[in-house]
Amino acid sequence: MNNFLQEAQELFTYTQSLRRDFHKYPELGFTEFRTANIIARELNSLGIEVKTGVGRTGVVGLLEGKKPGLVVLLRFDMDALPIKEETGAEYASVNEGIMHACGHDGHVATGLTVARILSQHRNEFEGTVKLVFQPAEEGLGGAEAMITDGLLENPKPDVALSLHVWNEKPVGWFGIVPGPVMAAADTFFIRITGKGGHGAAPNLCQDPIIAAAQVTNLLQGIVSRNISPLKSAVVTVASIHGGQAFNVIPSEVEMRGTLRSFEPETRERMIGRFHQIVESTCQALECKAHVEIKPITPAVYNDPKVTERVQEVARKLFSDDQLDFKAITMGSEDMAFVLQAIPGCYFFIGSANNEKNLNASHHHPKFDFDESVLPSAVGLMVASTMEVLVRN
Ligand code: ZN
Repeated sequence: MNNFLQEAQELFTYTQSLRRDFHKYPELGFTEFRTANIIARELNSLGIEVKTGVGRTGVVGLLEGKKPGLVVLLRFDMDALPIKEETGAEYASVNEGIMHACGHDGHVATGLTVARILSQHRNEFEGTVKLVFQPAEEGLGGAEAMITDGLLENPKPDVALSLHVWNEKPVGWFGIVPGPVMAAADTFFIRITGKGGHGAAPNLCQDPIIAAAQVTNLLQGIVSRNISPLKSAVVTVASIHGGQAFNVIPSEVEMRGTLRSFEPETRERMIGRFHQIVESTCQALECKAHVEIKPITPAVYNDPKVTERVQEVARKLFSDDQLDFKAITMGSEDMAFVLQAIPGCYFFIGSANNEKNLNASHHHPKFDFDESVLPSAVGLMVASTMEVLVRN
């Protein structure tokens, strides 16, 4: 087991140079053409059968072991974000307004290094490793696009593994948690329609701004009053738009935001109360409400058995005080769609380093992570894959 960590360490320069290259040339969801080309080139050079254009820009490589057996899917996301980078790093983005601010550059580099190590050990396992490089994870539907293109067939995976570098925790921390680990996410859109008019004659208007203010306040009661204090949920109003002038009551206000939850029952209750509150408050204030709630991803659910095996592997590679088997987050992830169909484990690799000033949160213009975690990410992924394939 420790050998894999050591092999990953020996390949650090390879991993780092790939990561820096992807970081310098980031690409938004579904336009990862350059990234996909490099992935295909690297996989081809290892003698791995490669399919490109899966889910538009996705890449799938099939690494066959010495004999047929189980199929393990390893998924790495590869898209960047529409953010102007402010890290000042030597490998900072040269693509204006686009930045790897979530660490997916590190995931691709990890994936390619994993492929390299596993290909060197292909005579030691039976089965197939399905290496998946996914586009458009950042809310654009990359996982669904790949699934629609047959990702989960030919061959059908038996187990799925994925990971994320995690700047909320320091280097040396590993989060490997059974059950729901990331929240189900929905977005909402509300249009409140009233009757506009002169700001000095509110009595002749039906003011959607007052309705929006009341709605915003009352929505906060869902989590505090309607959801069990022992469950987790989020209702965030993230955008309110209405009105232009100081003396005009507008006829419309638009609001947007997100809902997060873990259990389906919590989500249903939250959505039920959401409709009631928005619609009845607007009605009471003589306005009309139009509500749209769109599911983005289900919760990321880690299969307890698979997760236990990854935990066992991690125990052999790292010390117990580095392992966290409880941490969960209200963030969301479209790996959830894969894990709905295939039992698997999505784990977190602590990647912040205060001393090196690498601690900005994900999606921040100054986001960067400590690259020294990459061999741990590679080692844990390789060792977990071998654990599933060799000791199945
Ligand atoms: Zn991410």
